[in-house]
Amino acid sequence: MADYIYIDGKFYTKENAKISVYDHGLLYGDGVFEGIRAYNGRVFRLDEHIDRMFDGAKAIMLKPPVTKEEMKEIILETLRKNNLKDAYIRPVMTRGKGDLGLDPNKCPKPTIICIAETWGAMYGDLYEKGLNAITVSIRRNAPQTLPPNIKSLNYLNNILAKIEANVKGGNEAIIFDINGNLSEGSGDNIFVIKNGQIRTPIVEVNLKGVTRGAVFDLTKQLKMPLSEADMSYYDLYTADEIFVTGTAAELCPVTKVDGREVGNGKPGPMTKKLMAAYKKLTQTTGTPIFKK
Ligand code: PMP
Repeated sequence: MADYIYIDGKFYTKENAKISVYDHGLLYGDGVFEGIRAYNGRVFRLDEHIDRMFDGAKAIMLKPPVTKEEMKEIILETLRKNNLKDAYIRPVMTRGKGDLGLDPNKCPKPTIICIAETWGAMYGDLYEKGLNAITVSIRRNAPQTLPPNIKSLNYLNNILAKIEANVKGGNEAIIFDINGNLSEGSGDNIFVIKNGQIRTPIVEVNLKGVTRGAVFDLTKQLKMPLSEADMSYYDLYTADEIFVTGTAAELCPVTKVDGREVGNGKPGPMTKKLMAAYKKLTQTTGTPIFKK
């Protein structure tokens, strides 16, 4: 539960944390955000999240009103103010208040928000059972439209995918790109394992996940072969193991795709090994919240 929410330099109680209805983050999804987790008193890969947020802001010509160091301090201060050691953190930077037109030149000052609250395992018992994933007809935004590497406030593409998966009775969507190659989940990256080889889609067609990066590091340490590749439905339907990765989702096995069992329908050994290694990594590394 978040007691205090940061908005533009001040903390407000949840009831009083409000922004203008003229904010272009609300009116047009004009802004960027991050999803970050803190474990055991440390923020996991804080620099990487802030770099991605600032890169996204640069790409949409949104000039941050704070430095990266100040943004990190806002996050740490929000955690301290709420006395949180384990948390999900949501910093948001919008274009700010403007008029009803879409022109960003009419928005003089970006809005910065930071929410931090307790949020345990996002998928509950599905870390043991595995997700029932559905491939959806909606395609991931092409890099030539709204590049998926910008973690923008415009999440309708992902939300449409989630709606389609929900309607079809699944608990996560698997999205393809406009060329028919595998892209990612609605809020997570995807890894496919066959004959001991781990593969994940190339970064251009999905969000370059921080958790994805951590899996790259862990596979190197564990000497598991990993490569980036274009993949199709066939690769999903014939995989031995599949898992998704994200800050909120962490590492979660996928045990069913479009009604087909993945492997023997249970989380596989390589997935389980990586899940344990990720847990250890998150519990033991990161930026300390409270100064010693
Ligand atoms: N893809 C999408 C569309 C996402 O929203 C997320 C969550 N931020 C991810 C992938 C995973 O990214 P990360 O590991 O940085 O949370």
